Amino acid sequence: MATRQVSCGLYKTSPPWGGDQFLDGPQILFTTHLSNAFQTLKSHNPKSHKLCTVRKNPSFTAVLQSYIRNRRFNTSSTPKPNIIVTPFEASHVSTTVTCAKKIGVQLKIRSGGHDYEGISYVSDVSFIILDMFNLRNVDVDIKDETAWVQAGATIGELYYSIWEKSKVHGYPAGVCPTVAVGGHLSGGGYGNMLRKYGLSVDHIVDAQVVDVQGRVFDRAAMGEDLFWAIRGGGGASFGVILAYKIQLVPVPPIVTIFHVEKFLDQNMTEAVFHYQEVRQKIDNDLFIRVLLQPTTKDKTRTVRATFIGMFLGDSNRLLSITTPEFPELGLQKPDCKEMSWIDSVLYWANFDNTTSPNVLLNRTPDSVNFLKRKSDYVKTPIPKTGLESLWKAMVDIGKVGLVFNSYGGRMNEIPESETPFPHRAGNIFKIQYSVNWNEEDVASDKDYIDQIRNLYSFMTPFVSSNPRESFLNYRDLDIGTTDNGKNSFSQGKVCGEKYFKGNFDRLVKIKTTVDPDNFFRNEQMAQLPGLNTLGIALVRFDYAPWGVAPLHVHPRATEIITALEGSIQVGFVTSNPDNKLISKVLQKGDVFVFPMGLVHFQRNVGYGNAVSISAVNSQNPGIVIVASSVFGSVPGIDDDILAKAFQVDKSTVDRLKAQF
Ligand SMILES: Cc1cc2nc3c(=O)[nH]c(=O)nc-3n(C[C@H](O)[C@H](O)[C@H](O)COP(=O)(O)OP(=O)(O)OC[C@H]3O[C@@H](n4cnc5c(N)ncnc54)[C@H](O)[C@@H]3O)c2cc1C
Repeated sequence: MATRQVSCGLYKTSPPWGGDQFLDGPQILFTTHLSNAFQTLKSHNPKSHKLCTVRKNPSFTAVLQSYIRNRRFNTSSTPKPNIIVTPFEASHVSTTVTCAKKIGVQLKIRSGGHDYEGISYVSDVSFIILDMFNLRNVDVDIKDETAWVQAGATIGELYYSIWEKSKVHGYPAGVCPTVAVGGHLSGGGYGNMLRKYGLSVDHIVDAQVVDVQGRVFDRAAMGEDLFWAIRGGGGASFGVILAYKIQLVPVPPIVTIFHVEKFLDQNMTEAVFHYQEVRQKIDNDLFIRVLLQPTTKDKTRTVRATFIGMFLGDSNRLLSITTPEFPELGLQKPDCKEMSWIDSVLYWANFDNTTSPNVLLNRTPDSVNFLKRKSDYVKTPIPKTGLESLWKAMVDIGKVGLVFNSYGGRMNEIPESETPFPHRAGNIFKIQYSVNWNEEDVASDKDYIDQIRNLYSFMTPFVSSNPRESFLNYRDLDIGTTDNGKNSFSQGKVCGEKYFKGNFDRLVKIKTTVDPDNFFRNEQMAQLPGLNTLGIALVRFDYAPWGVAPLHVHPRATEIITALEGSIQVGFVTSNPDNKLISKVLQKGDVFVFPMGLVHFQRNVGYGNAVSISAVNSQNPGIVIVASSVFGSVPGIDDDILAKAFQVDKSTVDRLKAQF
């Protein structure tokens, strides 16, 4: 394998996953670093040739799309990663992190791709996806009642593996089997055993994480702060979760599920109203979800409530609880279905009762929609008049549905600060706002997103306030984002307090300690101000003979470069109308300055290696690589515009574009 040290930019290399090819700046830097780093791994791991998929690879689109679970982020205008790295072992993850950090490229970590805002596979800056789907081993130790589960495993695979070993053990996590452990557990994780056992994160006993320096830590090595943070604070802000060790919980041999539908003329308002009261007194074995959906009945628009229940026991005991305590539900024996816990998993995932648990090993959902979700918490019962106004609002607004998930039980007993997830005692239920659509146009996106925002706004008087709480796993960028710039703390606080309440400050301190340069940055995490404002960035370049740092611009910084080894030609072009090239060959010890915002380059003009070091007077200098900006923009600039700008014909433009 031919690999060479290079600087940034257009450069020819032979990465281990393909033949010679020209790539754009971040791709080449990353692939070169990776190819060096993976050289040794290749001989050890026969699958290394599948480690990276670059844009030109014929399988790129398939690999990218295989874990996109929201069609809003699967359009031609959705920003695409430069490379998708699909590690097979921890060392591949470490190498990816250290390489990405070295060249300063944004890394997006994806396990199951269910993030509602697509932030595991979309970014508005140049980025790379670290896709964990190959790391999906589940190792259940029934004697110990624990399991190690890798981040890329789905919760369906986890449930299946537990069931293979025991019919009386389970794990409290979500109801959608294709959600993956990496995002689900690190964001909290709840399901239909919430009232009995709390959240998924309440049953994590150990973890393996790759930190910003590429080191693999378990709980003892990472320390209790980081271990606390990755149990509900969102893994992607702190490192890469490789695996969690979970504590299994007991489930009875027979559980009971039910499904009761009600319309307005069937006592629906009364039933929903009393649903809010019963969670205080009702048995922890019972969880009830209410789906509220605008629909048409007898040619009239109305709202339907569907009560779906999960009871950890048989139907006689269930009825002995609901009949006296929740008579408005009107639950009858024929509504109840007794089954094993694993069959209840299938039921909640909408499979019929003839389906084999093997279906839980299927990682691909039947369909993927355009969708938007939001969340809220309700702490005081919504009065009947409020519910009636809600039904009207839902009908008027159109398509948005609501899901109420009952709280109480074990959730009341766990202190808010036990994990970063703070929504514990005092909540009656959580609301998920939900709208799906299939129309593929911008107007529909806007219409449905406006609808869900309108219903959210309507609900303001009925839900938590100061802060208006939200569930991290129901990612919602409407509630606040950060640009990771100098105001990241105040920006991140806006959404951070909604997701984490009083735990936000501790999370930010941990974040700033474990990742001081904010390498694991994302759209919604903050950093502490003051610890990261030195206003200077340093970069070292290693050049192969005749290696080039191609034409580029730093829009926010002046660069001072010092040659450490070899002979390096440097140059910049002054602004219009002079366009004067100022160029020089630097020898060891020589210094040169590239003024802010001017196009410049470096080239090793010797036959040996060369090294330089540059300082830029900004932490966030930005880099615009001229050739890839002009010929590799997404979507592409019209051929006509480029042909006129460069005074060449369109076929030449197409040839150039094909290089990016
Ligand atoms: C159909 C559907 C049903 C759902 N049902 C439930 C439910 O019942 N209960 C519930 O609690 N939630 C539910 N969710 C929400 C779901 O739990 C979150 O979206 C979760 O974050 C998805 O995890 P993922 O790994 O599949 O997604 P990804 O999109 O891969 O990841 C989500 C987030 O976690 C980060 N991340 C992923 N892997 C890692 C890793 N290895 N290390 C560090 N960071 C990582 C990503 O960067 C991203 O920020 C549902 C979502 C969908 C789409």
